[in-house]
Parts: sequence; C-alpha cells; structure tokens
Amino acid sequence: MAVIINLRLNTAGRATLEMLAGTVAVCALIGASFTVCAPVLSAQEKSAGDAGNASQLPCGLDKRFLDTSADPCVNFAKYACGNFPKLYPIPADRSAFGTGALVFEHTETALHALLENVEADRPARTPNERLIGDYYATCMDKDAIQAAGLKPLQGEFDRIAAIKSKSDLTGLLAHDQLINVNAFFSYGEQQDFKDARKQIAVVDQGGLGLPERDYYLRSGEAAEKTRQEYVQHITNMLKLLGEADTAAASDAKKIMELETALANVSMDITSQRDPKNVYHPMTVAELAGLTPGIGWTKFFEDTGAPAVSELNVANPDFFKGLNALIESTDLETIKTYLRWQLIHSTPGEVLPTDLDKEQFNFFGHTLRGQPQQRDRWKRCVAATDGAVGEALGEVYVKSYFSAESKQRTVQMVHDIEDAMDKEIGTLTWMSPATKVKAREKLHMVADKIGYPDHWRDYSSLKIVRGDALGNVVRAAEFENHRQLTKIGKPVDRGEWGMTPPTVDAYYNPSMNDINFPAGILQSPFFDPGATDAENYGHVGGVVGHELTHGFDDEGRKFDGSGNLSDWWTAEDAKKFDTMTDCEVKEYGGFTAVADVKINGKLTLGENTADNGGLRLAFLALLADAKRKGIDMNAKDESGFTPAQQFFLAHGQNWCGSTRPEQLRLQVQTDPHSPREFRINGVVQNMPEFGQAFGCKAGQPMMPANACHVW
Ligand SMILES: [Zn+2]
Repeated sequence: MAVIINLRLNTAGRATLEMLAGTVAVCALIGASFTVCAPVLSAQEKSAGDAGNASQLPCGLDKRFLDTSADPCVNFAKYACGNFPKLYPIPADRSAFGTGALVFEHTETALHALLENVEADRPARTPNERLIGDYYATCMDKDAIQAAGLKPLQGEFDRIAAIKSKSDLTGLLAHDQLINVNAFFSYGEQQDFKDARKQIAVVDQGGLGLPERDYYLRSGEAAEKTRQEYVQHITNMLKLLGEADTAAASDAKKIMELETALANVSMDITSQRDPKNVYHPMTVAELAGLTPGIGWTKFFEDTGAPAVSELNVANPDFFKGLNALIESTDLETIKTYLRWQLIHSTPGEVLPTDLDKEQFNFFGHTLRGQPQQRDRWKRCVAATDGAVGEALGEVYVKSYFSAESKQRTVQMVHDIEDAMDKEIGTLTWMSPATKVKAREKLHMVADKIGYPDHWRDYSSLKIVRGDALGNVVRAAEFENHRQLTKIGKPVDRGEWGMTPPTVDAYYNPSMNDINFPAGILQSPFFDPGATDAENYGHVGGVVGHELTHGFDDEGRKFDGSGNLSDWWTAEDAKKFDTMTDCEVKEYGGFTAVADVKINGKLTLGENTADNGGLRLAFLALLADAKRKGIDMNAKDESGFTPAQQFFLAHGQNWCGSTRPEQLRLQVQTDPHSPREFRINGVVQNMPEFGQAFGCKAGQPMMPANACHVW
C-alpha cells in the first residue's frame, strides 16, 4: 500500500477502537432511516424456528450474554459475556467473533442488499451506483476470473522480466507503489509532524511478506515453524506461477533470506510508537545519500509527485541497510522477489482459484486459525468498500443512518468533552500550567460524526465490467494518485480515514479529530431504545476512548493544532510517565495465550484510551443523571441499577472469543489488548465499579494498586 504507516498507531497514523477483530447481530429497519434492536437470534435459535431477520441487531444490554454463575467481582468479563461464545461460537470463516462482529455482519448484509440492487447493468443507475455495482458484480464473476487466469497480470510480469540492470529498478519500484505493491519499502504522504498544515511525502520501512518484523527474528519453536510454513507457502505460490519444483524451493529460500535481511534493518513495532523515532525530515539529496541505489528524483517524478524536495524518511537506518542489500543481492534474486511481492499483494478474490486457496491457506488458516475462507459475496462487499468506499458509503447512509442518531451522538460527544474538561480540573498530578494547555487542546478537537460533509469525487476512476484485476489496479492507482497529489497542498481537514459503513472509530493526532463512522453508531453501541446508562457504557466509552487518544502516550506529544510539540512542563511529563507505568505493569501482567503475555508498552496508548474513555463516559453519565434526577443506585425493571447497566454495557462492547492463532498474531502486532482485558483491565481501575457491584477491597476487580491516568 502506498498509504504510509508512519506512526504505528494503526493504519495511516490513526489510533483506532478496532472493533473488527471478531464479527454479528441483529435491529429491524423501520422505514428507511431508523433502526431498533431485537433479541439477537443465535444460530440454534434461527434453525429452531424463525429463519432469522438479518436486519436485526442486539439491544443495549443483552441478558442472554451474562454468565450469572460467575462473580462479577472476581471476573467481570466472564459475568458480562460468559454466555456469548455458547450462543455465538466462532463461525468457520472467522478467526474471532464478538459484539463488533455481530454489528459488522449486520452492516455487511445491508451493504450486500444495496449492491445486489445496483449490480445489474441498467441505464437508471446514478454514477455512484454504477461505480459500486460494476465493481461488485465484476468481483463476483468467479467464472470470468478463473477463465482469465494469470493473463491480467502478464503485463506486470513482463515489466519485471524487462529489467536488465539494477538501474532499471527505480521505475519499477515507483510503478509498484502506485499499484499497492510495497516492494522493499513503503511510500506515501502524511501531515508534517512539526507543521500539521503541510502535506509532505514519506518513505518508511516495508517490503515484508509476514505481518511484522519480529516474525522473522523471534526465536522459539512456534516462530520457527511459522517461518518454515511461510517458505513452503512462497514455494507453492511460485509453482503456481509456473516455476519448476526445485527452482521454486530454492527461490523461496532466497526470498526468505532477503526479507529477513529487510527485517534486520527494520524498527520494532513498539519503538515506532514514539513519533520522534519515525520523523526524520530530509532533502531528496540526503535520502539519495542513504540509498544511492534508487534514483529518487525519477522515483518521485514517476509517482506523480515531482514537487517533492523535502520529505520524512521515517527510518533512515532502514534505507541505509536497504542500499547495502540491493548492492549485495544478485539481479535475478531481486526480480524473483519482485514477482513474489506482486503476487503476494494481489487480493485472492481476483486470482484464479488455486492461488486464492494457497493464499488463504497460509494467511487465513495457518496464521489466523480460520478453518474456512469467507463466502465470495462477503469478500466482494469488503473489496468494494476498500476500493470505492465513499461511493458505497454515500448510498449506504441515505438508507441506514438517521438524523436522530447523528444529533444524539453529537450531544453525547459534547457531554463527554465537558466531562474531560472537569476531569482535567480535578487531576492532582498535573500542574495548572499544563492544565491550561490540555484544555486548549481539548477544545480544539474536531468532532466528526457519521459521514463526511463532502463526498469524494470518483468521476475520473474507470471501473470496467468483466476486468476484476484491472479494477483493483485502477482503484489503487486512483487512490494513490489522490493521496500523492496532496503533497505540497494545504490539508483538507474535512477528510475521513474510514468509510461510513465501518464499525470502528479513530483519533488522528495530526488532525486532532475524533471520527465515528455511521457503522458504529448502531445498536448495541448506540441503541435509541436503551437507557442512558447503557448508551453511555457502550458508545459513550467509545467516544471517551477516541478523545483520550489525544492525551495518551503518543497523542499527548501533539498540540491542539496537530503539531508535534512539547506543551508539557518537564515535571508533568515525568509524572505522566509514572502514571502510565502503572498501566504498563498492569497489562503486561496479563497472559493472552499460553506462553505469550500482553506487551504493556505496545498496548499502552489503547489501554490508556480504554481507561480514560470509560471514566469520562461515567462522569458524563453522572452529570446527565443529575440533570434528569435519576438515582444511579436504584434498580429498574432490568434488575440492574444504572451504574451496573453502565458497566455491563461496557463489558458487552467486547463480548466474544478469538482463536489461539489469531490471539497470538494480535498480541504480536496489534496495539489493542485482547477483549477480556479490555473489560477487566479497565474496571479494576475504577472504584466506582466495585461500589456498583458491592465488591470488597482486595477482590480481583477491586485491587489496591488501581491505575488512574485520565
Ligand atoms: Zn484506540
């Protein structure tokens, strides 16, 4: 992908909520713009009677998820969600499944219906309907994809074959970046960390086939086995491209050696969390000094960004190492690596079946433990969202996002921002001078709810019916061109980094904005029929989470305008580190899977956001209850007090289960803690939880050493 990953928050320098690790649910659509929830039918319930209404979602608090045999003060996650995996075992085509996945599958079904409605080639379609309908229909045409075989890629293979010397590499590497092949490194644009008004080019480490650097370097039996299986996978793919058995095996070994050498000069995922580690402004000449083996001026010209004179070289050591590697590797091996990177980067759904299966077998089955590939229609819905997501989103929100949802969410966001303002006032560890700055930043946060004010213009993108792979390439070129032409231009602060149907949310430190796509503003996260306590526990916690990202270990290093600048007094910065060390220790003590503990430093930002977010949501709920005269400790017909409903809703944000292979991958690559600890790790730090459930001091959910940053 040419879209750069510089701050390794998540994709494109954003800190997210990450709801999607798992997947379903059930809200009936009333009219065209308003959803209500109904009890979710599990697979057994569906087969027993009702065929299942795919347009339903779970309600704010679902009592069927509770395991009342568990003691909430001992293991709250088990109490709030213990029954969920029994109702919803992980489907064979998933590596995890949970509340977010229920909502995701509900949305997926809605998008499927929308796309089926516009896929037929008829004149009455609007330009957007034609775009998404043709993209989807072409992706679904398995027979045409199978019949085309590898022919659509022949031009790309010819380009590689035509390379006669290492000086020919530059043109090919530039072309690769435009079609989302990250051979050797990654390239894109970003807001300048030091001047957020400016868009600059950025080059970063890349070029690996495995998910992360440490997959190549980690010792131990499990890691060694994964590497062997990866080499076998490369061998199989090369054979499917037509190589003889022995040549494929020997080439795969060479590719593994080359990627391992790239891994050796790459920065580890935790170090990349510090913005100053991945920010090194340089001139093109300085970059050329690090990697003279690549003709950088030509590279920028070829990628359509000739104006680049200064850029961010995120990891200079990598580019130095890359040069040595290009010098020492023979041209034939480089060409084999380029062919591998090309086929590896091509989405399986537009490849012939045998390649698609082999790709799934390693990346889906071996790495994530997923028994079965997902249905083609699901993959094509996701591919359409990925390629032309704002066109799909524009059609989606017309039918599925109500003005009321937007207006009530805006109100909640304001309440939670008020709560943070007050919370800053009460912090004992922060000095008055830093408090002034923190409030200044808080009041500059831009709230983006539902969908963008201005929709992306896709009129120059050509989607051709019957050319699935060509569509993937043209959509990549369109998007990369759109990104790269931003270089040197003023920043568009209205831009979104997620599509409207996405069931997730994010904070972007350079924009200083919080973003909640329509997809996450659905039941149970936001349920118009639920109590306030339930909604504050669900989506309120999500809002607080994104807001807190502006003040986590990374976000705190940016000011209200999105510039990397130290607005803290030295003393307060030191105190902040001490406060967050408490969370590093707390989460670092949790065992995620067999021999693997959570990386407390990698997950620090997300854990801080989870903790601060829920506290802010609770404070906002208290203020709301006071206004409305609601007693937080009086049970209603649900049998729970509003305080209990709040914490149960928080817990039920994260119900679900994860396959061990996926869990291992998550702990090694994902800055979010596994679901169980997102529930328990937070309530352990809130004495209000212990009070709500009558826990005794010293019980597991009410420890003496609770952490409190925000
Ligand atoms: Zn987050």
